[in-house]
Amino acid sequence: MLLVSEPGLGPEETAALSGVIADNWITMGDRVRAFEKAFAAEHGVADAVAVNSCTAALHLALQALAIGPGDEVLVPSMSFVATSNAVLYTGARPVFVDIESPGVPLMSCAHAAEKVTARTRAVIIMHYAGYLADRSSWRDFARTYNLPLIEDSAHAVGRLRTGLFGDAAAFSFYGNKNMTTGEGGMIIAHDPAVLEKARQARGHGMTSGTLTRLRERPASYDVTMLGANYRMNELSAAIGLVQLEKLSGWNDTRETLTRAYRLALKETCPGLDIPFSADWRSAHHIMPVLLPPGADRMAVMNSLRDAGIQTSMHYPPIHQLSLYSQMYPGTSLPQTEEFAARQLTLPLHPKMEAAQVETVARALAHALAG
Ligand SMILES: *Cc1c(COP(=O)(O)O)cnc(C)c1O
Repeated sequence: MLLVSEPGLGPEETAALSGVIADNWITMGDRVRAFEKAFAAEHGVADAVAVNSCTAALHLALQALAIGPGDEVLVPSMSFVATSNAVLYTGARPVFVDIESPGVPLMSCAHAAEKVTARTRAVIIMHYAGYLADRSSWRDFARTYNLPLIEDSAHAVGRLRTGLFGDAAAFSFYGNKNMTTGEGGMIIAHDPAVLEKARQARGHGMTSGTLTRLRERPASYDVTMLGANYRMNELSAAIGLVQLEKLSGWNDTRETLTRAYRLALKETCPGLDIPFSADWRSAHHIMPVLLPPGADRMAVMNSLRDAGIQTSMHYPPIHQLSLYSQMYPGTSLPQTEEFAARQLTLPLHPKMEAAQVETVARALAHALAG
């Protein structure tokens, strides 16, 4: 089966894990700190805070920016549910914003402006499929409404040379992301105070960690804020350090495969639409396509599965999930809904070869004809 995504794990990761076992320090040690520093360097920022998921990173970023009960946070509905769940954890209310169009499934600045109220306190954007949202439009938006800007960068890890758009960005190292630590996440931020709050809150809000207490021998610790256990462990950090070395090459391979897809699909599946332009700056996390309106997506997915090709959907709109449609009934986001009705995700990962792209394109043409 050709999978939609696959982690790239090998002997280097095995060796890194053995090193942790040999050192006998299993969590929140030197490797976590080294991973934070290496990740920050890769993204052109001074520092970063490692946590055990992107969801935790989003929660801590919101908390560090003082988002809480009574506040509203603008979020895309075309995202993974974690984006808006993180808002709910703080006691704030997510306000769903439409995408620009099915061809550009990124949160719309214009629609976001319509949803601003006196209670709006922050905005979270998401770089769908790795395609970067427009930096200057969102900076202007944040400045105009005086709102902190948080990036859900779960799809956009790597050297995209854009630095950080806004106040904080959250990354994911889940098993299907561009790099993995099994489970894991990272926060970067311009303001060191935001990072320090996140660093303290990830470890129960304690003023010092176990390693610091061992090395610097402070008598005790205090708890000066409500924290959680969002710590990263040394095994994850050891894998992360190795994966970070490979990330840039992997992202290049993803780009090459995406270009091959665009060419092959144009030839074999003329009825298909492909979101974004070919030269859009991207980490190429997934390969989304739009089936012709009215196409039977389940039949297409089943036909591809019979051909040994896994496909997927990114995403069922959050505002239509039962939890959210019951909490916030009556939300209507026409562009998001049209996009979601037609969207299909094709396999894309660095272990794929160009010939497999051709195979997928032919199988998809066959499925659409059938
Ligand atoms: C994967 C993902 C998350 C959650 O990441 P975890 O590390 O699994 O918590 C959040 N947002 C988006 C857009 C994602 O794709």
